[in-house]
Amino acid sequence: MKVAVFSTKSYDREFLAAANGEFGHELVFFEPRLTWQTSPLAAGFPAVCAFVNDQLDAHVLVTLAKQSTRLIAMRCAGFNNVDLRIADEMGLTVVRVPAYSPHAVAEHTVGLMLALNRRLYKAYNRVREGNFALEGLLGFEFYGLTVGVIGTGKIGALVARIMRGFGCEVLACDVAKNAEVEAYGVSYVKLDDLLARSDVITLHCPLVPDTYHLIGGSALAKVKRGVMIVNTSRGALIDTREVVRALKSGVIGSLGMDVYEEEADLFFQDLSDRVIQDDTFSRMLTFPNVLITGHQAFFTRNALAAIAHETLGNIAAFEKGEPPPGRITAERVR
Ligand code: NAD
Repeated sequence: MKVAVFSTKSYDREFLAAANGEFGHELVFFEPRLTWQTSPLAAGFPAVCAFVNDQLDAHVLVTLAKQSTRLIAMRCAGFNNVDLRIADEMGLTVVRVPAYSPHAVAEHTVGLMLALNRRLYKAYNRVREGNFALEGLLGFEFYGLTVGVIGTGKIGALVARIMRGFGCEVLACDVAKNAEVEAYGVSYVKLDDLLARSDVITLHCPLVPDTYHLIGGSALAKVKRGVMIVNTSRGALIDTREVVRALKSGVIGSLGMDVYEEEADLFFQDLSDRVIQDDTFSRMLTFPNVLITGHQAFFTRNALAAIAHETLGNIAAFEKGEPPPGRITAERVR
Protein backbone atom coordinates (compact mmCIF):
# COMPACT_ATOMS: atom_id res chain seq x y z
CA MET A 1 0.00 0.00 0.00
CA LYS A 2 1.19 3.56 -0.68
CA VAL A 3 1.86 5.19 2.68
CA ALA A 4 2.70 8.84 3.48
CA VAL A 5 4.85 8.69 6.61
CA PHE A 6 4.88 12.01 8.54
CA SER A 7 7.27 13.35 11.24
CA THR A 8 9.98 11.08 9.92
CA LYS A 9 13.40 11.03 11.55
CA SER A 10 16.42 8.98 10.46
CA TYR A 11 15.56 6.24 12.98
CA ASP A 12 11.96 5.98 11.67
CA ARG A 13 13.26 5.49 8.12
CA GLU A 14 15.79 2.90 9.30
CA PHE A 15 13.36 0.74 11.28
CA LEU A 16 10.36 1.10 8.93
CA ALA A 17 12.46 0.33 5.86
CA ALA A 18 13.97 -2.74 7.56
CA ALA A 19 10.56 -4.09 8.63
CA ASN A 20 9.05 -3.35 5.22
CA GLY A 21 11.12 -6.13 3.64
CA GLU A 22 8.39 -8.47 4.90
CA PHE A 23 5.43 -6.32 3.73
CA GLY A 24 6.48 -4.51 0.52
CA HIS A 25 4.50 -1.30 1.09
CA GLU A 26 5.43 1.82 -0.86
CA LEU A 27 6.66 4.10 1.93
CA VAL A 28 7.17 7.80 1.20
CA PHE A 29 8.86 9.65 4.07
CA PHE A 30 8.02 13.25 4.90
CA GLU A 31 10.01 15.11 7.55
CA PRO A 32 7.36 17.69 8.57
CA ARG A 33 4.76 17.12 11.21
CA LEU A 34 1.26 16.47 9.87
CA THR A 35 -0.77 19.68 10.24
CA TRP A 36 -3.44 21.27 8.10
CA GLN A 37 -0.64 23.11 6.25
CA THR A 38 1.25 19.89 5.43
CA SER A 39 -1.79 17.66 4.81
CA PRO A 40 -1.71 18.31 1.00
CA LEU A 41 1.52 16.24 0.95
CA ALA A 42 -0.67 13.18 1.55
CA ALA A 43 -2.84 13.76 -1.54
CA GLY A 44 -3.35 10.46 -3.37
CA PHE A 45 -2.01 8.31 -0.50
CA PRO A 46 -4.57 5.72 0.72
CA ALA A 47 -2.65 5.42 4.01
CA VAL A 48 -1.09 8.02 6.29
CA CYS A 49 1.33 7.00 9.04
CA ALA A 50 1.54 9.50 11.91
CA PHE A 51 3.18 9.95 15.33
CA VAL A 52 2.45 11.46 18.75
CA ASN A 53 2.56 15.16 17.89
CA ASP A 54 0.96 14.99 14.45
CA GLN A 55 -2.25 16.94 14.27
CA LEU A 56 -5.22 14.75 13.40
CA ASP A 57 -8.01 17.14 14.28
CA ALA A 58 -11.26 17.59 12.32
CA HIS A 59 -9.70 19.99 9.81
CA VAL A 60 -6.84 17.64 8.90
CA LEU A 61 -8.98 14.48 8.88
CA VAL A 62 -11.59 16.04 6.57
CA THR A 63 -8.78 17.16 4.22
CA LEU A 64 -7.18 13.71 4.24
CA ALA A 65 -10.51 11.97 3.56
CA LYS A 66 -11.24 14.35 0.66
CA GLN A 67 -7.78 13.55 -0.73
CA SER A 68 -8.80 9.83 -0.74
CA THR A 69 -6.90 8.66 2.36
CA ARG A 70 -8.71 5.71 3.97
CA LEU A 71 -6.33 4.62 6.73
CA ILE A 72 -4.57 6.48 9.54
CA ALA A 73 -1.81 4.27 10.97
CA MET A 74 -0.51 5.69 14.25
CA ARG A 75 2.99 4.38 15.00
CA CYS A 76 2.49 4.84 18.76
CA ALA A 77 0.20 3.70 21.56
CA GLY A 78 -1.46 7.00 22.48
CA PHE A 79 -4.12 8.47 20.19
CA ASN A 80 -5.19 11.60 22.12
CA ASN A 81 -4.19 13.67 19.06
CA VAL A 82 -6.73 11.93 16.80
CA ASP A 83 -10.36 13.09 16.64
CA LEU A 84 -11.79 9.58 16.46
CA ARG A 85 -15.39 10.76 16.14
CA ILE A 86 -14.58 12.74 12.99
CA ALA A 87 -12.43 9.88 11.67
CA ASP A 88 -15.40 7.51 12.07
CA GLU A 89 -17.73 10.03 10.40
CA MET A 90 -15.33 10.47 7.47
CA GLY A 91 -15.00 6.68 7.03
CA LEU A 92 -11.31 6.72 8.00
CA THR A 93 -9.99 3.61 9.72
CA VAL A 94 -7.58 4.41 12.56
CA VAL A 95 -5.03 1.91 13.84
CA ARG A 96 -2.31 2.18 16.49
CA VAL A 97 0.29 0.00 18.19
CA PRO A 98 -1.19 -0.68 21.62
CA ALA A 99 1.74 -2.67 23.04
CA TYR A 100 5.12 -2.48 21.36
CA SER A 101 7.35 -2.57 24.39
CA PRO A 102 5.87 -1.44 27.68
CA HIS A 103 9.24 -2.35 29.22
CA ALA A 104 10.89 0.56 27.37
CA VAL A 105 8.60 3.12 29.02
CA ALA A 106 8.51 1.40 32.42
CA GLU A 107 12.31 1.20 32.59
CA HIS A 108 12.68 4.86 31.56
CA THR A 109 10.18 5.84 34.25
CA VAL A 110 12.23 4.11 36.93
CA GLY A 111 15.38 5.60 35.38
CA LEU A 112 13.94 9.08 35.91
CA MET A 113 13.07 8.23 39.53
CA LEU A 114 16.60 7.02 40.30
CA ALA A 115 18.32 9.87 38.44
CA LEU A 116 16.19 12.46 40.24
CA ASN A 117 16.54 10.97 43.66
CA ARG A 118 20.33 10.72 43.56
CA ARG A 119 20.72 13.84 41.33
CA LEU A 120 22.72 11.75 38.84
CA TYR A 121 22.45 14.47 36.19
CA LYS A 122 24.25 16.88 38.56
CA ALA A 123 26.80 14.29 39.67
CA TYR A 124 27.70 13.52 36.03
CA ASN A 125 28.50 17.17 35.29
CA ARG A 126 30.31 17.75 38.58
CA VAL A 127 32.67 14.81 38.21
CA ARG A 128 33.52 15.81 34.62
CA GLU A 129 34.57 19.20 35.97
CA GLY A 130 36.68 17.69 38.73
CA ASN A 131 34.13 18.65 41.40
CA PHE A 132 33.78 15.72 43.79
CA ALA A 133 31.84 17.56 46.51
CA LEU A 134 28.69 15.79 47.71
CA GLU A 135 26.72 18.79 48.96
CA GLY A 136 23.42 19.03 47.08
CA LEU A 137 23.44 15.37 46.03
CA LEU A 138 21.81 13.93 49.16
CA GLY A 139 19.18 11.40 48.14
CA PHE A 140 16.88 8.95 49.87
CA GLU A 141 16.19 5.25 49.56
CA PHE A 142 13.11 3.97 47.76
CA TYR A 143 13.10 0.88 50.01
CA GLY A 144 10.15 1.15 52.40
CA LEU A 145 8.57 4.16 50.68
CA THR A 146 5.09 4.31 49.18
CA VAL A 147 4.73 4.60 45.42
CA GLY A 148 1.38 5.55 43.86
CA VAL A 149 0.77 4.29 40.33
CA ILE A 150 -2.07 5.99 38.47
CA GLY A 151 -3.12 3.72 35.59
CA THR A 152 -2.15 0.06 35.89
CA GLY A 153 -2.33 -1.06 32.27
CA LYS A 154 0.68 -2.51 30.50
CA ILE A 155 3.23 0.15 31.53
CA GLY A 156 1.86 0.99 34.99
CA ALA A 157 1.74 -2.71 35.89
CA LEU A 158 5.44 -3.10 35.04
CA VAL A 159 6.39 0.00 37.04
CA ALA A 160 4.39 -1.37 39.98
CA ARG A 161 6.24 -4.69 39.72
CA ILE A 162 9.66 -3.03 39.52
CA MET A 163 8.92 -0.79 42.51
CA ARG A 164 7.69 -3.80 44.52
CA GLY A 165 11.10 -5.26 43.72
CA PHE A 166 12.71 -2.20 45.34
CA GLY A 167 10.79 -3.04 48.53
CA CYS A 168 8.21 -0.26 48.19
CA GLU A 169 4.60 -0.33 49.24
CA VAL A 170 2.71 0.24 45.98
CA LEU A 171 -0.73 1.85 45.84
CA ALA A 172 -2.68 1.92 42.59
CA CYS A 173 -5.60 3.78 41.16
CA ASP A 174 -7.38 2.81 37.95
CA VAL A 175 -10.90 2.75 36.56
CA ALA A 176 -10.42 -1.04 36.14
CA LYS A 177 -8.41 -3.26 38.51
CA ASN A 178 -5.64 -5.43 37.06
CA ALA A 179 -5.57 -8.80 38.87
CA GLU A 180 -1.92 -9.33 37.88
CA VAL A 181 -0.97 -6.14 39.72
CA GLU A 182 -2.90 -7.22 42.81
CA ALA A 183 -0.95 -10.48 42.70
CA TYR A 184 2.30 -8.47 43.21
CA GLY A 185 0.83 -7.21 46.50
CA VAL A 186 -0.33 -3.85 45.15
CA SER A 187 -3.39 -2.28 46.82
CA TYR A 188 -6.01 -0.37 44.82
CA VAL A 189 -7.17 2.77 46.60
CA LYS A 190 -9.15 5.88 45.71
CA LEU A 191 -7.25 8.68 43.98
CA ASP A 192 -7.39 10.99 47.02
CA ASP A 193 -5.98 8.24 49.24
CA LEU A 194 -3.16 7.58 46.76
CA LEU A 195 -2.34 11.30 46.57
CA ALA A 196 -2.26 11.65 50.36
CA ARG A 197 -0.15 8.55 51.09
CA SER A 198 2.40 8.37 48.25
CA ASP A 199 6.03 9.50 48.44
CA VAL A 200 6.33 8.99 44.68
CA ILE A 201 3.45 9.37 42.21
CA THR A 202 3.85 8.03 38.69
CA LEU A 203 1.36 8.56 35.87
CA HIS A 204 0.45 5.80 33.41
CA CYS A 205 -3.15 6.50 32.45
CA PRO A 206 -4.15 7.77 29.00
CA LEU A 207 -4.95 11.40 28.27
CA VAL A 208 -8.74 11.53 28.00
CA PRO A 209 -11.17 14.27 29.11
CA ASP A 210 -11.38 12.69 32.61
CA THR A 211 -7.61 12.73 33.11
CA TYR A 212 -6.83 16.17 31.62
CA HIS A 213 -4.84 18.11 34.28
CA LEU A 214 -5.31 15.24 36.74
CA ILE A 215 -2.31 16.66 38.60
CA GLY A 216 -3.46 20.26 39.08
CA GLY A 217 -4.21 22.60 41.96
CA SER A 218 -6.77 20.36 43.63
CA ALA A 219 -4.62 17.19 43.52
CA LEU A 220 -1.51 19.08 44.64
CA ALA A 221 -3.41 20.32 47.70
CA LYS A 222 -3.70 16.67 48.80
CA VAL A 223 -0.17 15.31 48.20
CA LYS A 224 2.56 14.76 50.81
CA ARG A 225 4.93 17.73 50.98
CA GLY A 226 8.10 16.87 49.05
CA VAL A 227 6.45 14.24 46.84
CA MET A 228 8.27 13.02 43.71
CA ILE A 229 6.05 13.10 40.60
CA VAL A 230 6.95 11.33 37.37
CA ASN A 231 5.01 11.64 34.12
CA THR A 232 5.98 9.48 31.15
CA SER A 233 2.41 9.21 29.87
CA ARG A 234 1.05 12.38 28.23
CA GLY A 235 1.93 15.98 29.04
CA ALA A 236 -1.55 17.34 29.64
CA LEU A 237 -2.13 14.94 32.57
CA ILE A 238 -0.23 17.65 34.44
CA ASP A 239 -1.23 21.30 34.77
CA THR A 240 2.27 22.68 34.27
CA ARG A 241 1.55 26.14 35.70
CA GLU A 242 0.21 24.61 38.95
CA VAL A 243 3.20 22.29 39.06
CA VAL A 244 5.61 25.25 38.76
CA ARG A 245 3.81 26.84 41.73
CA ALA A 246 4.11 23.61 43.73
CA LEU A 247 7.82 23.30 42.89
CA LYS A 248 8.43 26.87 44.06
CA SER A 249 6.63 26.28 47.35
CA GLY A 250 8.32 22.91 47.97
CA VAL A 251 5.09 20.91 47.77
CA ILE A 252 6.68 18.92 44.94
CA GLY A 253 10.14 17.73 46.00
CA SER A 254 11.18 16.51 42.55
CA LEU A 255 9.64 16.11 39.14
CA GLY A 256 10.49 13.86 36.22
CA MET A 257 8.82 14.48 32.88
CA ASP A 258 9.24 12.72 29.55
CA VAL A 259 6.19 14.49 28.13
CA TYR A 260 4.99 18.08 28.26
CA GLU A 261 1.59 19.52 27.41
CA GLU A 262 3.04 21.95 24.84
CA GLU A 263 5.70 19.57 23.57
CA ALA A 264 4.58 19.60 19.93
CA ASP A 265 6.58 22.75 19.14
CA LEU A 266 9.67 21.60 21.05
CA PHE A 267 10.35 17.90 21.12
CA PHE A 268 11.98 15.69 18.47
CA GLN A 269 14.05 18.55 17.03
CA ASP A 270 17.37 20.30 17.72
CA LEU A 271 16.55 23.80 18.99
CA SER A 272 19.90 24.31 20.71
CA ASP A 273 20.73 27.44 18.68
CA ARG A 274 17.34 29.09 19.21
CA VAL A 275 15.67 30.96 22.05
CA ILE A 276 12.88 28.85 23.52
CA GLN A 277 9.72 30.94 23.42
CA ASP A 278 7.74 28.82 25.90
CA ASP A 279 8.29 30.62 29.23
CA THR A 280 6.68 27.91 31.35
CA PHE A 281 8.97 25.27 29.87
CA SER A 282 12.01 27.54 30.28
CA ARG A 283 11.06 28.07 33.94
CA MET A 284 10.87 24.29 34.43
CA LEU A 285 14.43 23.97 33.16
CA THR A 286 15.70 26.27 35.91
CA PHE A 287 14.71 23.99 38.82
CA PRO A 288 17.53 21.81 40.19
CA ASN A 289 14.98 19.13 41.12
CA VAL A 290 13.34 18.77 37.71
CA LEU A 291 14.55 16.29 35.11
CA ILE A 292 13.02 16.47 31.65
CA THR A 293 13.58 14.12 28.74
CA GLY A 294 12.12 14.83 25.31
CA HIS A 295 9.58 12.03 24.88
CA GLN A 296 12.25 9.35 24.67
CA ALA A 297 10.78 6.72 26.99
CA PHE A 298 9.73 4.58 24.01
CA PHE A 299 13.09 5.01 22.28
CA THR A 300 14.77 1.60 22.39
CA ARG A 301 15.87 -0.63 19.51
CA ASN A 302 13.40 -3.25 20.69
CA ALA A 303 10.49 -0.81 20.70
CA LEU A 304 11.30 0.79 17.33
CA ALA A 305 11.54 -2.62 15.67
CA ALA A 306 8.23 -3.69 17.23
CA ILE A 307 6.49 -0.39 16.34
CA ALA A 308 7.63 -0.67 12.70
CA HIS A 309 6.53 -4.31 12.43
CA GLU A 310 3.12 -3.76 14.09
CA THR A 311 2.40 -0.57 12.11
CA LEU A 312 3.19 -2.16 8.75
CA GLY A 313 1.24 -5.27 9.80
CA ASN A 314 -1.81 -3.12 10.62
CA ILE A 315 -1.56 -1.53 7.16
CA ALA A 316 -1.20 -4.94 5.48
CA ALA A 317 -4.28 -6.30 7.29
CA PHE A 318 -6.31 -3.26 6.23
CA GLU A 319 -5.15 -3.67 2.62
CA LYS A 320 -6.25 -7.33 2.62
CA GLY A 321 -9.66 -6.37 4.04
CA GLU A 322 -8.92 -8.13 7.35
CA PRO A 323 -9.64 -6.44 10.70
CA PRO A 324 -6.36 -4.69 11.67
CA PRO A 325 -5.33 -5.80 15.18
CA GLY A 326 -4.64 -2.25 16.37
CA ARG A 327 -7.95 -0.72 15.21
CA ILE A 328 -9.49 1.99 17.40
CA THR A 329 -12.85 3.69 17.00
CA ALA A 330 -14.62 6.40 18.99
CA GLU A 331 -17.09 3.69 20.14
CA ARG A 332 -14.33 1.41 21.50
CA VAL A 333 -12.72 4.23 23.46
CA ARG A 334 -16.02 5.22 25.08
P1 NAD B 1 -2.85 0.86 28.79
O1 NAD B 1 -4.05 1.17 27.97
O2 NAD B 1 -2.33 -0.53 28.82
O3 NAD B 1 -3.10 1.32 30.31
C1 NAD B 1 -3.73 2.52 30.66
C2 NAD B 1 -4.43 2.28 31.99
O4 NAD B 1 -4.97 3.53 32.44
C3 NAD B 1 -5.59 1.28 31.89
O5 NAD B 1 -5.47 0.30 32.89
C4 NAD B 1 -6.82 2.17 32.10
O6 NAD B 1 -7.90 1.49 32.73
C5 NAD B 1 -6.23 3.24 33.01
N1 NAD B 1 -7.07 4.44 33.09
C6 NAD B 1 -7.91 4.97 32.17
N2 NAD B 1 -8.52 6.06 32.66
C7 NAD B 1 -8.06 6.22 33.94
C8 NAD B 1 -8.33 7.16 34.97
N3 NAD B 1 -9.21 8.14 34.80
N4 NAD B 1 -7.67 7.01 36.14
C9 NAD B 1 -6.78 6.00 36.34
N5 NAD B 1 -6.50 5.08 35.39
C10 NAD B 1 -7.14 5.19 34.22
O7 NAD B 1 -1.73 1.87 28.29
P2 NAD B 1 -0.16 1.72 28.44
O8 NAD B 1 0.39 0.97 27.28
O9 NAD B 1 0.17 1.25 29.81
O10 NAD B 1 0.29 3.24 28.24
C11 NAD B 1 -0.01 4.23 29.23
C12 NAD B 1 0.23 5.59 28.61
O11 NAD B 1 1.64 5.75 28.35
C13 NAD B 1 -0.43 5.76 27.24
O12 NAD B 1 -1.68 6.38 27.41
C14 NAD B 1 0.52 6.64 26.46
O13 NAD B 1 -0.04 7.94 26.40
C15 NAD B 1 1.80 6.66 27.29
N6 NAD B 1 2.99 6.26 26.53
C16 NAD B 1 4.07 7.09 26.56
C17 NAD B 1 5.23 6.73 25.88
C18 NAD B 1 6.47 7.58 25.92
O14 NAD B 1 7.39 7.38 25.10
N7 NAD B 1 6.60 8.51 26.85
C19 NAD B 1 5.25 5.55 25.13
C20 NAD B 1 4.12 4.73 25.14
C21 NAD B 1 2.99 5.09 25.85
